[in-house]
Amino acid sequence: MSLFRRRKTVFVDADILVIGGGMAGCGATYESRYWGRDLKIVCVEKANIERSGAVAQGLYAINCYMGMQWGENQPEDHVRYARNDLMGLVREDLGYDIARHVDATVHKFEEWGLPMMRDPETGRYQREGKWQIMIHGESYKPIVAEAARKAATEVYNRIMVTHLLTDKTKPNRVAGAVGFNVRTGDYYVFRAKAVIVSAGGASHIFKPRAVGEGMGRTWYAPWSSASAYALPIQVGAKMTQMENRIVLTRFKDGYGPVGAYFLHLKTYTQNGYGEEYESKWYENTKALVGDYIDRHPVPTCLRNHAFLEEVKAGRGPIRMVTTEAFQDPHKETVGWENFLGMTIGQAVVWASQNIDPKHINPELTTSEPYVMGSHATCSGAWASGPEDYAPSEYQWGYNRMMTVEGLFGAGDAIGGTAHKFSSGSFTEGRIAGKAAVKYVNDLRNQPPQVSEQEYLDLEKTIFQPLENYRVGRNEIVAGTVSPSYLLPIHGLQRLEKIMDEYVGGISTNYMTNDRLLNRGLELLTMLREDMSSMGAEDLHQLQRTWELHHRLLASESVTHHTLFRQETRWPGYYYRGDHMRLDDENWHCFTLSRYDRNTGKWALEKAPVYHIVD
Ligand SMILES: Cc1cc2nc3c(=O)[nH]c(=O)nc-3n(C[C@H](O)[C@H](O)[C@H](O)COP(=O)(O)OP(=O)(O)OC[C@H]3O[C@@H](n4cnc5c(N)ncnc54)[C@H](O)[C@@H]3O)c2cc1C
Repeated sequence: MSLFRRRKTVFVDADILVIGGGMAGCGATYESRYWGRDLKIVCVEKANIERSGAVAQGLYAINCYMGMQWGENQPEDHVRYARNDLMGLVREDLGYDIARHVDATVHKFEEWGLPMMRDPETGRYQREGKWQIMIHGESYKPIVAEAARKAATEVYNRIMVTHLLTDKTKPNRVAGAVGFNVRTGDYYVFRAKAVIVSAGGASHIFKPRAVGEGMGRTWYAPWSSASAYALPIQVGAKMTQMENRIVLTRFKDGYGPVGAYFLHLKTYTQNGYGEEYESKWYENTKALVGDYIDRHPVPTCLRNHAFLEEVKAGRGPIRMVTTEAFQDPHKETVGWENFLGMTIGQAVVWASQNIDPKHINPELTTSEPYVMGSHATCSGAWASGPEDYAPSEYQWGYNRMMTVEGLFGAGDAIGGTAHKFSSGSFTEGRIAGKAAVKYVNDLRNQPPQVSEQEYLDLEKTIFQPLENYRVGRNEIVAGTVSPSYLLPIHGLQRLEKIMDEYVGGISTNYMTNDRLLNRGLELLTMLREDMSSMGAEDLHQLQRTWELHHRLLASESVTHHTLFRQETRWPGYYYRGDHMRLDDENWHCFTLSRYDRNTGKWALEKAPVYHIVD
């Protein structure tokens, strides 16, 4: 019992609690302070905001910048682009709202010291593509974190939030959150009037291509553990588009990004026999999705589809033709720097495999699926839209508030708004922060009440895996397999296998159907039953346990959504073998789900897609 006795409980009161200090969380913290000068703004982060989140290693480009000051793009253009890429289904109100503010965010980054690359001829930011501008990104996160640190009343690093708290008298209202310090084991109870969830996306819910000692090498950050979805789901927030997982075409084994190569270096792909292949699959794709294949640019999922079909036809591997571009010394430098500044592992993989892209065209691969709301995909919470732009059906109070009162979100956490990336996530954090301040001010003297019983019960639940291990380990003398407990790594591998084989992962070529999905749900339920037997050897393993809980809940959501949408809307991301065609007549809509924690049941429904931009 020693661990239990030594543990302190720390109470923190806040007006606004920001969970996750990544791009969106830093934006939310910064903006909350701007509008809420006298409010207590607290940011809680499971790592350290200095380097946390998906941009931790640094980025080479800011992927969402309109360039309105030079008339390069308008917000409406970005809405059209995102809508096209997502096969027609985006929340245009939310996307427009980000696009109209994102340039101001990027200008702030520059003001705070982010080194931007400039076109020597025009003096404008150096474009990598229509929406991307190039930066020296190594210092990106520390610069953004500094702004948040200065704005916050307090930043709590190294605290993993495991659950949200709800109001004693009003279950559909948020009242705070609980978690534990991953270094000291102290239990934290945050009481807050408003909560902004910005805890990133989800990797490792599907089995990754790299397993064993390489399993940490995924494209999306391995520490993105689905908390942004699980926390709101647990308290009954509606989720949207959770079936819209993303599969990335990337350089093989290192997941080095291809954007700068395609857009800036003008490299292109070919099959194992040196042939162009995308055009060969035009008729095949058209039969599945109709006119969507004729859109420009071709939607990301459809380009994946051609890749997958070509490999299935036996003409792999697909390669990126770098040998031409790399003859130009400037392009060669940009190509290498792109990885050294962002995905150094890819450069190491190439070195270790004798691949010099000047002489050998490197192989590409398609990743395992990830769930996120900020890239070329839009899974996440169903949120209220901006008052001046959202259709009335999309508005129930405050901008970016979820369907739970006082609960806001930004970045990967919010659904329906693809292509926000780092700058758009920060911008959405700002939008959520501003709205949360308004909510708190409107509350006046009616703050939510935390139930003592609720946080005491949660404390027992959260730390139970340490106790399970302490007791159970005496039953074995060696090894890791115990009759009494399940280690987090075992649970994670079981989850990844279920998702991979039943919900459309790499081993089935992203294929699934109703039979597989229903069986997958049965197996996920069995895993859930076993979660009460998790054993955690130490605090690190306790964190892994709660990350697994979050991944499991998000996985259940993904599986229910995939089953509900009876069509293949995004071939190349996943296929419903029993509904292989896109079906605009019945499924030009959002899918929404709501989890009831009292019954464990999920309710699914459709919501209309409004095309606001012509
Ligand atoms: C490999 C890669 C390349 C990318 N390239 C680009 C690019 O070139 N340009 C670009 O603009 N964008 C790029 N992006 C996208 C960009 O990184 C994301 O869009 C952005 O980081 C999303 O912001 P977020 O705040 O939602 O999530 P994150 O920035 O990931 O932040 C989430 C935060 O929540 C914390 N957290 C998670 N769970 C908990 C919990 N339970 N309790 C407390 N804290 C928690 C995490 O530690 C993290 O700090 C890239 C992403 C990846 C992975």
